[in-house]
Amino acid sequence: MTITPLMPVYPRCGVRPVRGEHCHLMGEDGTRYLDFASGIAVNLLGHSNEHLIGTIQRQAATLMHVSNLYGSPLGDALAQRLVDLTFADTVFFTNSGAEAVECAIKVARAYHQHAGSTERYELITFNNAFHGRTMATISASDQEKMHKGFMPLLPGFKYAPFNDLAAAEALIGPHTAGFLVEPIQGEGGVHEGSAEFLTGLRALADRHDLMLVFDEVQCGVARTGTFYAHEQYGVTPDVMASAKGIGGGFPLGACLATEKAARGMVFGTHGSTYGGNPLAMAAAGAVLDVVANEAFLANVRATGARLRARLEQFIGNYPDMFELVRGKGLMLGIKLRMEPRAFVAHLRDNHQVLTVAAADQTMRVLPPLVIDDSHIDEFMDKLSAAAASYQVTEPA
Ligand SMILES: *Cc1c(COP(=O)(O)O)cnc(C)c1O
Repeated sequence: MTITPLMPVYPRCGVRPVRGEHCHLMGEDGTRYLDFASGIAVNLLGHSNEHLIGTIQRQAATLMHVSNLYGSPLGDALAQRLVDLTFADTVFFTNSGAEAVECAIKVARAYHQHAGSTERYELITFNNAFHGRTMATISASDQEKMHKGFMPLLPGFKYAPFNDLAAAEALIGPHTAGFLVEPIQGEGGVHEGSAEFLTGLRALADRHDLMLVFDEVQCGVARTGTFYAHEQYGVTPDVMASAKGIGGGFPLGACLATEKAARGMVFGTHGSTYGGNPLAMAAAGAVLDVVANEAFLANVRATGARLRARLEQFIGNYPDMFELVRGKGLMLGIKLRMEPRAFVAHLRDNHQVLTVAAADQTMRVLPPLVIDDSHIDEFMDKLSAAAASYQVTEPA
């Protein structure tokens, strides 16, 4: 037998974390890493936030799980908080981002089909999008590498180039149900949607009675310095998927919708055994206690601006290696002039700093939202050392 007990779908690196300490991770062998990946934009509060840990511990000892067949005081309260904080009127809780997107796809289809338009099922999505790894969410992404071996895809998705409003409009037809888009693409390389593009999609959706669905699984929950990224564009969706940071490390997703958009989601149309269980609701409540206020969000914007300024100054020293810095708040990407994976590995293995590679030759910088200037200093020192040693020992 050569297959590993953990199904070998991830090319796992040598880092084997066993303990978290605020913005650092400790490996099995005692190595200490600066974590500017945050479990891919998940650990908003770092790794040892006392409020989050205490809340989970108390809730685990009180009530961990009950069925969605029963009333949920904690679910009611968290949904009400999200409704109060966002465009949404109603929320469905899931266990992951892909499930939140799945629910959003169902909401968009049901909006039309509940009203009798059974021919309207198609969502227009965008090149280099990432929406998850389930069959519907890989079908919603135009990426060959996610499809291979898993054909046939689910019908009902058309792809247009990201930030190309005319191309999206040209795909609208009698089967169109709506648009599904990340306001800021994460895996695709930290690409910001342009204001014209997102505003234009909203206008097209209004004109053609289509659902505008935002996937804010990566860019949402304070990551970009507003509670959700779309707030910075002045554009509101009809439906939105959220996850990653929302549980601060506890697995949780959410599909948010307006009352109008959710008109098809009546009794019996959707469900989840674990979705929104008391433990998850308590964890998310603790995260919102910390991040869902203007002082915290303003600090994310200010910290992001300081980190970005340092990065922009730094890349000027290595014009042959780095091209530019993209992103908003603490969702930043450095575009390299080479494939990023070898550099991400060098930074990790030789300088003990964790970042994440993305498409378009981009290295993602996704620190916990609670970093201070000491973490920025440590990051910049180690990044500079990594760039210097990379040029000497491993020319690009
Ligand atoms: C990570 C991600 C997903 C999938 O979330 P999972 O929790 O891994 O299922 C979906 N959309 C976006 C934009 C993501 O970044």
